[in-house]
Amino acid sequence: MTVEDLTTHETAADACPWCGKVQDRASNADGKAGAPEEGDVSVCIRCAGACVFDAKLKLRKATGGELAELRANPAFRKAQWAVRQLER
Ligand SMILES: [Zn+2]
Repeated sequence: MTVEDLTTHETAADACPWCGKVQDRASNADGKAGAPEEGDVSVCIRCAGACVFDAKLKLRKATGGELAELRANPAFRKAQWAVRQLER
């Protein structure tokens, strides 16, 4: 995956529920082109925490069950790994 592969959408500013980093964009890492929808997963650009867009497109922490599913998802693991490689 490269930056050129990502489609980025502006979102309402919201803080990561794990670390508080305010985010106002989301990039698709799964090849889809659409804007975020309820239930979509987001990886925080600062802490790589797993977040989920709620019905109002606000970020919430992924639940324990969701985290277990995500850890088994190669696309999620790849996105989380990519964020962790970013220089701070
Ligand atoms: Zn975060």
